[in-house]
Parts: sequence; structure tokens; C-alpha cells
Amino acid sequence: MLEFDPVKVRRNVEEAKTDDLLDRVTAFREGMEPAAVRIIEEELFRRGVGPAEIDQYRQDQAGRLVMRPEGFAYRCSFCQRPATVRRVGWHRLWGLIPILPRVLNYCPNHAPEEVDAPKTEPPAADDD
Ligand SMILES: [Zn+2]
Repeated sequence: MLEFDPVKVRRNVEEAKTDDLLDRVTAFREGMEPAAVRIIEEELFRRGVGPAEIDQYRQDQAGRLVMRPEGFAYRCSFCQRPATVRRVGWHRLWGLIPILPRVLNYCPNHAPEEVDAPKTEPPAADDD
């Protein structure tokens, strides 16, 4: 765990997008310092997003996210958003050559298209 630095957290929070902040205080809330949650909620409030909006956002996301046993969402393997799909994919050398199967997390933006269809075969090396 990194040491909590309220000055750094506040600066980071002020530069973050509102959606990103909403993800942090909902999907990732259980994995954060309570003091960091407070800083984010203050910043959201400054942007006109109050407890009712945060709660609505949480409800919209509920049931869609893939949660860790610790009680917060897995993060997308390709960006900072919470994951809605988790499955085996390929770790690629230089982003190209599949070398190791590993579990990858996908947000709606990064989910492979066939992910909604039931998939029974394991991914092949040339699968893309
Ligand atoms: Zn993503």
C-alpha cells in the first residue's frame, strides 16, 4: 500500500474526469482510504454531483461489474474503468505475439465483441 498523501490525492482528484471519480467512489470504494473517498465526494459535490447522483450511479452499475472477493470491482486490463467481463485472454509480447494465457478484465469499451455469446472452446493461439 502506498502511503496516503492528501495533497497528492486532492491534486489527482481535481484533474480527474467526473465519470472516473464516480467509479472510484462506487465500484472501487471498498479498496480506498476513507479519507480519499471523502476528498473525491467533496470534489464531486463541487461539480454539482451530490449523494443522490452518486447513489444513482452505483445502482446503474450494480450487477454489471465483476467484483473482487475484497468487495470492490476488478479494474479493466486496458484502462482505469471497472470491469464488466473477466475471462481468459492472451498476454501478448509487444502487444502482438500471444505468449501466456491469463485472466483479463474488460470494461464495456474494451470487451471483445463475442464476449456476450457463450464461449466453450479455449482461445487458440491465433485467436483474436
Ligand atoms: Zn477498459
